[in-house]
Amino acid sequence: MGPDVIIVGGGVMGSSTAYHLRKADPTLSVVVAERDDGYRQASTVLSDGNVRIQFGLEENIRISQHAMGVLSTFDDDMATTRHRPEVAARRQGNLFLVDETSKPATLEAIALQTRLGCEVEWLEPREITAKFPDLGAVEGVVGGSHGRDDGSVDPTAVLLGYRNKAIELGVVYVEDEVTGLIGESRRIRGARLGSGGDLICPIVVVTAGAWTADLVRPLGVSLPVIPVMRTVYVVSTTVATSGVPSVFLPSGVYALPESDRTWLIAWSRGEDPVGYDFTPAGRQRFTDLIWPEMYRHLPAFDRLEVESAWAGLYAVNTLDGNAILGEWPELAGLYLATGFSGHGFQQAPAVGRYLSELILGVDPTLDLSRLGGQRVLDNAPVHEQAGRLI
Ligand SMILES: Cc1cc2nc3c(=O)[nH]c(=O)nc-3n(C[C@H](O)[C@H](O)[C@H](O)COP(=O)(O)OP(=O)(O)OC[C@H]3O[C@@H](n4cnc5c(N)ncnc54)[C@H](O)[C@@H]3O)c2cc1C
Repeated sequence: MGPDVIIVGGGVMGSSTAYHLRKADPTLSVVVAERDDGYRQASTVLSDGNVRIQFGLEENIRISQHAMGVLSTFDDDMATTRHRPEVAARRQGNLFLVDETSKPATLEAIALQTRLGCEVEWLEPREITAKFPDLGAVEGVVGGSHGRDDGSVDPTAVLLGYRNKAIELGVVYVEDEVTGLIGESRRIRGARLGSGGDLICPIVVVTAGAWTADLVRPLGVSLPVIPVMRTVYVVSTTVATSGVPSVFLPSGVYALPESDRTWLIAWSRGEDPVGYDFTPAGRQRFTDLIWPEMYRHLPAFDRLEVESAWAGLYAVNTLDGNAILGEWPELAGLYLATGFSGHGFQQAPAVGRYLSELILGVDPTLDLSRLGGQRVLDNAPVHEQAGRLI
């Protein structure tokens, strides 16, 4: 007899889902098939670990509010007899610099975030400089949206925290590749393992990150999700990294303060390579494209050096940039969580809880049904900001 639930992919989404399932129902047998226990290509470990409430969609704001609460006590809550995570939460704040075009949408988003109880404020350029003198002057913008509670954590620690706790609660992880999913008529039946054999199971959760769309396609499930390579540069600068927020430019370039004047800097672009490539873009791209953009808005970044770079995959939802969550409307028992684009890590606590509630037939604590697969079938996007992928 197979398990009650099989989860394909044990990254942060799969591990959070496994943890929530077994915590809610200790009698449920849950198997997670993860092909690489070293997580070398998992987006979770290659992510920046940034968490923000600065979204325009109410669901995304509430998802992040939940994450912030969970992460504030995560180390204690996920401690096991053998392992205590250290997520190293930092609340350095996120500052989104805004140009004239995006000001109305930003003010609208701030009003919504404030109504939902978030710590967010609008700052004029001179207020930004007064508040964060180490950033120097900000130029070419009309102001900024500053989320005081935003910050970052160690994504690998969160992933392993969920995984270890799930195992302690009785979830079984197998290091194996799922080579195919088994479906018949309008119902899922199980998963085929690379090591041989089928796991027959009425509920299959696919949390295989950027590989999800390719895995479900043979079942006739067509997702508007593609793997896109994003390069993050590790850059040493003369700009202080304490007492300053992470900064996001209107173009989408972002700079996250790490330590010792080292910043993580990246820019997601439409021409980024699609596919399973992990070779980071070269330094020339930084020098030619990103640096001038940084310098244009933040002249303090005039002297810097690229130390290294890494690349990971976004599972980009080309329909609307948002997650696709829940049971696939045309295949009973197949649950999905994918399409997170650049903001999935912070969604893992709420998504794991949501999927577990759907599977267990419990009323969801947070209604995320607008992010379900029906909108894909209806071609009815639910945008953050129209046309903008994040
Ligand atoms: C450079 C970069 C920066 C990012 N920064 C942020 C950020 O600051 N904040 C934020 O919120 N998000 C960020 N993200 C997005 C975030 O990392 C992802 O949305 C999130 O980690 C997705 O988690 P996941 O568990 O779905 O996928 P993954 O972590 O990729 O896990 C999927 C797992 O499935 C396994 N798998 C795949 N196929 C199979 C198979 N057939 N059989 C068995 N196992 C399989 C893989 O080995 C992998 O371990 C960033 C992403 C990147 C690439």
